[in-house]
Amino acid sequence: MSRVTVLAESCKGVEDCGLCLEECPADVFEPAGQSNARGYLPAFAAREDACTGCEACMRICPDFAVIVKAKRSSGKEVGDA
Ligand code: SF4
Ligand code: SF4
Repeated sequence: MSRVTVLAESCKGVEDCGLCLEECPADVFEPAGQSNARGYLPAFAAREDACTGCEACMRICPDFAVIVKAKRSSGKEVGDA
């Protein structure tokens, strides 16, 4: 299980990019409900529970706006104390 975070202010928008939506094999992403401060509609990890942790989204994002962190079975992210 993984935690998927989109840094909304770093995303250049699903209309102009959308690579994470295209690449995700688990269909985790969809457009967010509102634009960011730059006027772009960012991606949002709406179906995080479906994430396989493949990290394809993190690798493909040109703006380093996606962060995928593995979760332990306790629910804590790996790296947490
Ligand atoms: S890590 Fe893989 S399965 Fe998870 S959101 Fe990213 S592309 Fe989709
Ligand atoms: S790949 Fe990155 S910049 Fe492109 S829509 Fe997804 S989060 Fe935004």
